[in-house]
Amino acid sequence: MAHTCIHWFHKGLRLHDNPALVAALKDCKQLYPVFVLDPSSPMNINAGINRWRFLIGSLKDLDCSLRKLNSRLFVVRGKPEDVFPKLFQEWKVTRLTYEYDTEPFSFCKEVIQLAKEHGVEVIFRVSHTLYNIERIIEENNGKAPLTFSRLQTIVKSIGPPKRPIPAPTCEDMEGITTPCPEDYEQAFGMPKLEQLVQDPAACSGASTVELFPGGEQEALRRLDQHMERKEWVCGFEKPNTSPNSLSPSTTVLSPYMTFGCLSARTFWWRLTHVYQGKKHSQPPVSLHGQLLWREFYYTAGMGIPNFDKMEGNPACTQVDWDVNPEYLAAWTQARTGFPFIDAIMTQLRQEGWIHHLARHAVACFLTRGDLWISWEEGQKVFEELLLDGDWSLNAGNWQWLSASTFFHRYFRVYSPIAFGKKTDKNGDYIKKYLPLLKKFPAQYIYEPWKAPRSVQEAAGCIVGKDYPRPIVDHEVISKKNIQRMKAAYAKRSPRSSEELSDHKEKGGKRKATSVVEMLMKKKRTV
Ligand code: FAD
Repeated sequence: MAHTCIHWFHKGLRLHDNPALVAALKDCKQLYPVFVLDPSSPMNINAGINRWRFLIGSLKDLDCSLRKLNSRLFVVRGKPEDVFPKLFQEWKVTRLTYEYDTEPFSFCKEVIQLAKEHGVEVIFRVSHTLYNIERIIEENNGKAPLTFSRLQTIVKSIGPPKRPIPAPTCEDMEGITTPCPEDYEQAFGMPKLEQLVQDPAACSGASTVELFPGGEQEALRRLDQHMERKEWVCGFEKPNTSPNSLSPSTTVLSPYMTFGCLSARTFWWRLTHVYQGKKHSQPPVSLHGQLLWREFYYTAGMGIPNFDKMEGNPACTQVDWDVNPEYLAAWTQARTGFPFIDAIMTQLRQEGWIHHLARHAVACFLTRGDLWISWEEGQKVFEELLLDGDWSLNAGNWQWLSASTFFHRYFRVYSPIAFGKKTDKNGDYIKKYLPLLKKFPAQYIYEPWKAPRSVQEAAGCIVGKDYPRPIVDHEVISKKNIQRMKAAYAKRSPRSSEELSDHKEKGGKRKATSVVEMLMKKKRTV
């Protein structure tokens, strides 16, 4: 039977390594590539301007690639559960293909049910992650591994990830058409940024230069560029990269991975190719290691109930976080009075990407370090501002940094003053993102409130008037918060401690598995 098929581009906004798309082409006479645009979905509701711009860029690029195959992308507005039944009927669809999605807001289950009701065959394939996440959970007796080393053991037993498959070619499309209705542009054309951004005033927060344009072609170009730096790739150790370099010290492939413009397996195998026959760094700090961290959080996101919340999340320490809208607003709007923190939050708002260790610094500051605000609040802000905002990775990393789940050395706190100095003594990064402070001498750039009045006047910036005083005394508050954390840990149920004992390596010795632990091994205070 020749099928009329919808391929649902859900996350995997690419043609390469897209096995569900390839499955769509088999015995197919008519192909409808569809993207469902639902601004009200939980995945999109908080998205800010940079993220929407990235999505539109990615969709345009996908449409351009499909055109080269004599097809088009149909951007359908509405909720998946409303639009699919209509499309099934209107286009007389017999088959639906899509990339498997582990996340709770994926609507895949609802759509499968609707497809069944309409007699539509459903085919899905795993390609957003390196492995089938369900398999990892199965291999771990039905539970998500809570440590990186456990995940590593499991994936080693499964073997290397599958090799990526090439993008379809014109030959693969022979005999397949994409009927385009006359009202295509109006009904299915590209959305405009102004239609998606709720608050047009927010547009001013975005960088006018699009530093990271969306799309598969851009993703592959950036991947190629990085893979040419063989020595850098082989020597990559995450703790040695800098949170405050003026241009990124890591790959910035994360937005492309989040939207599926780049396949994780393509990235993995390109790295394997570069490593071939050379001495190279190892997980957890290598680039292969970074991809395994992604896998780790995807597995946790699927296996741990209520993963994006503290309440009802059995792996998460229950903490009596404060509700403090004033502090939260100061953090979100880069007004904490700590230039390192404010510079990072400014970069995040303007550019949509910040380095992993910069995320560490601001996340620790918001939660257990200084402001004692729930990681769920930080998660929401990141969801809005990050180009790479990813449900599992965001929730998992916030839990880690707040020492709620996975990481338990709550007594190790990042200093909002000393940490940044390690890699940027002069404060050039601060000066770039907070030009108001650019005339401060290096001696005071991390602590402008300590500068004598005459220095502040000479710098043209008076603390308390032109730039805020620090909202907390870090030295005092961080010590108090450690005690609050200690009390929260004391109340933890025996079950969670039992699960956490899994963190111990054989013989009671525990390996440092995270970037923060590696850093802390090097130097006790950061
Ligand atoms: P590289 O170092 O070049 O790593 C390559 C790829 O590995 C990344 O693109 C990413 O896909 C993956 N990766 C790297 N580090 C991690 C990690 N710690 N956890 C999971 N995967 C990782 N990353 C997101 O993609 N989306 C998020 O929403 C997100 N939220 C975060 C929130 C907090 C509080 C923290 C501390 C980290 C968060 N991260 C998130 C993880 C990490 O910071 C980013 O993936 C990384 O900084 C992206 O930059 P890169 O592509 O240059 O990374």
